[in-house]
Amino acid sequence: MSDIEEHRKKIEEITLEMIKLLKTRTDVAKQIGDAKASLGMTVTDEEREDALRNQVTKLCKEIDLDQSTALKFLNFLFNESVKVQSDNKQTHLSVFLKAKALEEEGKKIIHLEVGEPDFQPPKEVKTALEEVYDKGYGKYGPAKGITELRKALASWVSEYESETQYTEENILVCPGARFAVYLAITTLLNPGDEIIVIEPAWPAYKDCALNAGIKVRTIKTTLETKWEPSIEQINNAINENTKMIILNYPNNPTGKILPKKIQDNIIEIAREYDLYVLSDEIYSEYANDDWKSVLLYGYEKSIITKSFSKSHAMTGFRIGYAIAEPSIIEKMSKLQALSLTNVSEPIQYVALKALAADPDFTSIIKSRLKALVESAKDIGLEFIEPDGAMYLFAKTKHKNFDATKFSEKLLEHGVAIAPGEGFGDYKEFFRITAIDETKLKEGMTILDTVLKESYE
Ligand code: PMP
Repeated sequence: MSDIEEHRKKIEEITLEMIKLLKTRTDVAKQIGDAKASLGMTVTDEEREDALRNQVTKLCKEIDLDQSTALKFLNFLFNESVKVQSDNKQTHLSVFLKAKALEEEGKKIIHLEVGEPDFQPPKEVKTALEEVYDKGYGKYGPAKGITELRKALASWVSEYESETQYTEENILVCPGARFAVYLAITTLLNPGDEIIVIEPAWPAYKDCALNAGIKVRTIKTTLETKWEPSIEQINNAINENTKMIILNYPNNPTGKILPKKIQDNIIEIAREYDLYVLSDEIYSEYANDDWKSVLLYGYEKSIITKSFSKSHAMTGFRIGYAIAEPSIIEKMSKLQALSLTNVSEPIQYVALKALAADPDFTSIIKSRLKALVESAKDIGLEFIEPDGAMYLFAKTKHKNFDATKFSEKLLEHGVAIAPGEGFGDYKEFFRITAIDETKLKEGMTILDTVLKESYE
């Protein structure tokens, strides 16, 4: 055998051995996952991860292996464990699907779990839908979006959200903010890179990262600290692999807006460590006056995601957008072109008309949130009053309250809520959406009754 053939044979054997070891490791990870679930422990345990990371670093020194390669490989292994251990997590989406199935069987359900406004888009949307055929929107179009819409969005953003003059080069029209988040995480980062997510958080940030082989460092915030991360927590989560921090204020699920000082500090840290800031500002239209867009910092590595889903009550139309430097937009648009060519042109036209209509849904959401807060106070739930968005993230006064079990029981009584475990390590919390006040009242009365029956 020649030298190269011998080496190739060896590399094959090693690779196959590694795959067998991966299978063994995955099986053990599943067993650990089952044990964690029965003990009520969280999937990710940063301390355990750090301990293993230290051992790997030590070993690399002993055997003279490049540490960053080994740590990226370790991040891949961590992600695989998280995936097999997260299979049975209950999220607002899984409850929603169960609720829908019950409705199909003829049961009446009050949806307090959904993440969408329950009112109609502006009426201009209806007219635009009628116009679209005659106007000839309906062919393939540019991947970044039709120029009229990108221009309109750029001037809207420049006028309402920032002091900077943006152009269409800063805008990427996407099929919803979800896809914009996916594009940003997938195209700007590489497998083995790390991102910081402040929990409680909308689950897709973590899921997008897991899907792209990116390690998530979570920062856990608490009700007691008003859902505010400390600067120390953020600094501690940063290492040489950290490439992005995700912000989402007003927050889903807490409705929190960060105090200006903390947000200023986070952007300063991002600048210092050259991190991307992905700021998901989808609820900015439903915010109180304290809210400050990340656009106002003029940070060149920021990506802002927004959506017609919330601002114009157009969830099913699937249209949102990202605002960033042209070089970032370029990278994101390449994957968009590859995966879906362009956002449906008729829908882009409708969005253009909806933007011009400039509806003010803020007052509707505010009065619903107020009603929700009052009702939650009457019931004796514990929470921080939301500064914006359209939710309340609450727990009860009962010790060891299991919100997942409670949400299952409540669903049997015709009310759906979102269990806190979908947003991180918050098994005792649940999220309630501020819906139409009559239905909300009915839902909250049932919630109160089931709570009393179960725990008092
Ligand atoms: N970000 C957050 C924080 C959300 O809550 C949601 C949807 N509920 C999205 C993004 C996705 O929005 P879209 O419908 O635009 O994809």
